[in-house]
Amino acid sequence: MHSYRVIAIPKEIAQRARTTMKSPQYGHPAHAEVAKGYGPCRSCLQTFHTGEEHRVLFTYNPFEGLADYPAPGPIFIHKEECPEYASPGFPSKLRELPLMLEAFGPGRELLKHERADKDNIDATITRLLANPAAEYLHVRNAEAGCYIARIERV
Ligand SMILES: [Zn+2]
Repeated sequence: MHSYRVIAIPKEIAQRARTTMKSPQYGHPAHAEVAKGYGPCRSCLQTFHTGEEHRVLFTYNPFEGLADYPAPGPIFIHKEECPEYASPGFPSKLRELPLMLEAFGPGRELLKHERADKDNIDATITRLLANPAAEYLHVRNAEAGCYIARIERV
């Protein structure tokens, strides 16, 4: 039983980016290409099959609805509709990636950020969420810095 859940970007945002080929939040043009890297897709939270799958790149603010101060950045999703991640626990494909966990308090104050790897990811999430001031966590790629997903207590 997990004490947390991993939340992908909203399905409506992913679908609007695919159909309009613009950032749903910013209106900037989106970009479609064959995957040159592992991604991952911020909707299904699976890594891309490099050189095979098509993906869409667009600008996304992961703080929408959470805080007034935005942090837009580039994210990828599958070009074809994919199932939004809704499984318990941390996505197995993401455990292999270089990950940074960020704990945010009220007003998106960064309380702590910590590198996580596949051997300690669950323990790190549990520890960061044990801080009562932490409202949610963001998962980012520790090398590229890009936003991947949000984690909340269940
Ligand atoms: Zn996907």
